Amino acid sequence: QNNPNFILMVEDLTVSFDGFKAVDNLSFYVEPNECRVIIGPNGAGKTTVLDLICGRTRATSGSIGFKGQELTRMREDKIVHSGVGRKFQTPSVYEDLTVFENLEISYPRGHSVFGALAFKRDAGVTARIEEIAETIFLSEMLQSRAAILSHGQKQWLEIGMLLIQDPELMMLDEPVAGMSVAERRKTAELLNRIIQDRSVIVIEHDMGFVADIATRVTVMHQGKRLSEGSMAHVQADPKVVEVYLGH
Ligand code: ADP
Repeated sequence: QNNPNFILMVEDLTVSFDGFKAVDNLSFYVEPNECRVIIGPNGAGKTTVLDLICGRTRATSGSIGFKGQELTRMREDKIVHSGVGRKFQTPSVYEDLTVFENLEISYPRGHSVFGALAFKRDAGVTARIEEIAETIFLSEMLQSRAAILSHGQKQWLEIGMLLIQDPELMMLDEPVAGMSVAERRKTAELLNRIIQDRSVIVIEHDMGFVADIATRVTVMHQGKRLSEGSMAHVQADPKVVEVYLGH
């Protein structure tokens, strides 16, 4: 269960909805500082895999080992505390708050009510917020209301709101959907910065973007792992070519 070469070990994972296997005996292993991209046609089971890892959906069978802990029966909030962060596709920043305040309310305050009450704005928190703002290209926008940010900037802010919690595994669902070419390029740069300190799993359809960010690609089809390896490897895999061209 606890193999230091892998931060995440997904083994024989299956989930059935009324007998339909959305994820079917799936195994994959993620290393520290890896950016793993999951690709596959619509309905392949990609989103369900992220739902299973973050505890939104319960597995029918199989295991999810994260830093030696078993996640399949852990509560969703415990999974967050153990270091798994998830960003959904639509940005959910607080529009009426500033960029600074959005980051501030996301700063971890400990698990107890007293921890939350004792929370004060101190120099350490401010320094961390400024550091994150620089990472997400929003240093100049700290005092701006989130409502005036572009769609892409809101996505970065939401990534910043996860980063400030310092998860060891971050999961992103189509992070560049709706972004301009320039924003996509900067998001690739952002992800390459992020994996210096943690691992990331990304669901993505934009193959150009995948090539820029992936250390390894897992291709899913009908709930199963169809292929895995470098972008060049999976692109040349006849099984992958058939699934993509056959649709
Ligand atoms: P992808 O993200 O690759 O497009 P999904 O993981 O969203 O695929 O869905 C995989 C399959 O599982 C789809 O056929 C979807 O309809 C089905 N599915 C996902 N979640 C549920 C659920 N809660 N109940 C029933 N079917 C579901």
